[in-house]
Amino acid sequence: MKAVQVSKPGGNFELVDRPTPEPVRNQVRIKVEACGICHSDALVKEGHWPGLQYPRVPGHEIAGRIDKVGPDVTRWQPGQRVGVGWHGGHCFQCDACRRGDFINCEFEKITAIHFDGGYQEYMIAPAEAVAAIPDDLPADEAGPLLCAGITVYNALRNSGARSGELVAVQGIGGLGHLGIQYARQMGFQTVAIGRGSDKEPLAKKLGAHSYLDTSASSPADALKKMGGARVVLATAPDSKSMSALFDGIGANGTLMVVGADLQPLTITPLQLIMGRKAIQGWASGTAKDSEDTMRFSTLTGVRPMIERYPLAKAADAYQQMITGKARFRVVLTMN
Ligand SMILES: [Zn+2]
Ligand SMILES: [Zn+2]
Repeated sequence: MKAVQVSKPGGNFELVDRPTPEPVRNQVRIKVEACGICHSDALVKEGHWPGLQYPRVPGHEIAGRIDKVGPDVTRWQPGQRVGVGWHGGHCFQCDACRRGDFINCEFEKITAIHFDGGYQEYMIAPAEAVAAIPDDLPADEAGPLLCAGITVYNALRNSGARSGELVAVQGIGGLGHLGIQYARQMGFQTVAIGRGSDKEPLAKKLGAHSYLDTSASSPADALKKMGGARVVLATAPDSKSMSALFDGIGANGTLMVVGADLQPLTITPLQLIMGRKAIQGWASGTAKDSEDTMRFSTLTGVRPMIERYPLAKAADAYQQMITGKARFRVVLTMN
């Protein structure tokens, strides 16, 4: 089979022939049909994950079909349409797992970090990391929902915001263009926040009731005038612009952070105390959360905007993503 691997930190993408892997106990083999390219694939490409073993096949937005199951797998059968996202399995034994909090498993496996991901024709996944894909969701659109989609969907539905309340989505990119759609479909008064007036028509098309241009005026002031946001979903990895939005959050509101910047937020204790506000982070979800994400998306018509590339062009596809040129998610397809 064909696979695209990275054999050392900072190495190039190599298209190689590999033996088709065999599933062992509690594993399934998936015939990959599509795999989204995520900004976090840079962790594999550039070697930013401590202890990562090379060569490694990147990709954690996988959609395809069960091709073979290992011993003791009862839930899945060959032919079923399935996907795998960032959360690549858990131990069922640690204290977090014993509480059912699988995403915080002490021994969590992450797809394409702890085992090879979806930039290949066949992959192996632990049975508990597999999510069923609805019949009416094509593989190339399912892929990005399994990392970008689940992250914003799960963050929003656990944010405490109730229908009708004001929810602002900062950033109109890979995460944000999905966040705006979910916020609208969940029944929130949806405000999109971006830089420049050119993004306004798209933000409105995605479902935003209104648009705030950060280059024209203070978005925090504008949110305050609207009564204050119950939730600001911060998707653009820019701590400075996230921090600048904080005063636009209303009483008991939350800054929900999903854009992974490495710089500190600059919010004072007083800003938190006055109005009893909170800052929270959110990371993806389990396979069942992935199923919820895809089901909600098919019910409501939420879809990622994608650009397709064949597997052999993985390097070009990654370049498109990492340079920020993609509108908005890049997906590798296997045929
Ligand atoms: Zn991702
Ligand atoms: Zn565990």
